[in-house]
Amino acid sequence: MPSLFSALLVSALLAQQPAQQPQAPAAQTPAAPTTARPPTRADILRGEYGRYRANNDLLFYHLDVRIDPEKKWIGGKNTIRFKMLKDDTRIQLDLYANLAVDKILLGTSPLKYEREINTVWVDFPQALKAGREYTIEFYYSGQPEQGGRFGGMTFGKDPAGTDWIYTACEGQGAAVWWPNKDQWRDEVESMRISVAIPSALVDVSNGKFLGKTDLGDGDTRWDWAVQYPINNYSVSVNIGNYVHFEDRLDGLPLDFYVTPGNLDGAKRQFAQAKPMIEAYQHFFGDYPFAKDGYKLIEVPYSGMEHQSAVTYGNRFSNGYLERDWTGVGISPKFDFIIIHESGHEWFGNAVSAADVSDMWIHEGWTTYLENLYVEHRFGYADALKYVNGYKSKVRNREPIITQRGIHRTPPQDMYFKGALFLNTLRSVVNDDPRWWKLLRDLFQHFKYQNILTEELVTYVNAQLGRDLTPIFNQYLRRADLPVLELAFQGEGTVAYRWKADERDFAMPIRVGTADSWQVIQPTTDWKVMKTSLNKDTFEVATDLYYVNVSKQ
Ligand SMILES: [Zn+2]
Repeated sequence: MPSLFSALLVSALLAQQPAQQPQAPAAQTPAAPTTARPPTRADILRGEYGRYRANNDLLFYHLDVRIDPEKKWIGGKNTIRFKMLKDDTRIQLDLYANLAVDKILLGTSPLKYEREINTVWVDFPQALKAGREYTIEFYYSGQPEQGGRFGGMTFGKDPAGTDWIYTACEGQGAAVWWPNKDQWRDEVESMRISVAIPSALVDVSNGKFLGKTDLGDGDTRWDWAVQYPINNYSVSVNIGNYVHFEDRLDGLPLDFYVTPGNLDGAKRQFAQAKPMIEAYQHFFGDYPFAKDGYKLIEVPYSGMEHQSAVTYGNRFSNGYLERDWTGVGISPKFDFIIIHESGHEWFGNAVSAADVSDMWIHEGWTTYLENLYVEHRFGYADALKYVNGYKSKVRNREPIITQRGIHRTPPQDMYFKGALFLNTLRSVVNDDPRWWKLLRDLFQHFKYQNILTEELVTYVNAQLGRDLTPIFNQYLRRADLPVLELAFQGEGTVAYRWKADERDFAMPIRVGTADSWQVIQPTTDWKVMKTSLNKDTFEVATDLYYVNVSKQ
């Protein structure tokens, strides 16, 4: 099945689809940066946290919909509760232009609204007051866009010909299938999801399963409660002929939903969920959505980190789509989709970026979490091999952090360079107990928050008592790697400095020989050291620090 759906890439894996995105040979002229083109009005509406978003704070959604597989249709309402932060008469919500706004009610009063591209400007007859809570009901209906770059909302069939309907909308945004305040900075505190579907089908959404109700008209409504903040794009429906099995990890419910033909494969493969959760709990603390439980749900695309409802399409095999993902013999030891997408429960879902420009907080960190999993399960040597396997996937053509406020998804370097950068930071700290404590404290500090990179850097600097800002800036806000320049001068001396875009770039690094590394403190100014080694024998620990080295 996956080949049928190979065009349905979710953004979490967009850069990782092996057959679709061959790397250009290094000798070719580099492609123009993909993130630098000027924004359109649609980009601004999508990405800017403007006045009519910033004037309110989301509290709660109840998405209550009916889905008709035959008509490929969805309709219903989202009840939206929010607190006003400033007196104002307008708020900004979002719903794709191809879906109808049926009505928007405040109590029983219809509200006026204006539509602009995929935005819905909602106007109130009198100013809403700062500090007060309001609830509106947003009724809508139509046929959502399916297919496309990220899947959106897809009305498909399983191999037996039964309806299989699912959502994956991180790129386009949740407004592709339901009305919401579609941005990254603000999340509801909790959510209810009610999905009415033909009674022969099963809906698996996010959160805790509350129960199902036969509506007496051929449809059954499935009710789910999300008891934590949740990203809009993480909200999902997965509707099909699912069979269910369950397990527990201590008190945590683990629920698995697969098509009947894959039950045996799933029982074998999904056994990896437990050691995965145990590994991440070891590093960061308890699974962050314990009240909602943890789920794996089979889908025809490769996978997505939907909160507490991770979707899985990795063929019930190790590696990634049956390939050795980093090409160094480590990824065949585990199921890449289970390990990667579930890692997002910690970074992406619990700790979330406040703007898509800072998406490395999701992808760089989660890619690094794969590496932590490998270290915990298979040992340090495998982990070092695994993380350095990512180097072949890095391009260093444009910065990882993109322009803020225009919803421009960063380049794929946010995954691999992001992880290699965190591995480098561990070497900069050069004190593993301190590094493990920093990781855990950082996660606990930012859990359930939406943050920008600046906040993360400020926190790390304070915890370590040193200013690493130029290092973060060089790796995240500049395209090029730092280069350690070494000039061998004869008579047993070598001059060294960093060549970097950040003038204040100063990063310790290990040099000499692997059995007795020596830590030096280069800056962007030349220094000279004595060495008994020569140009050929003088080594740099480039598997611990992701840098380039130039010897002369
Ligand atoms: Zn990811």
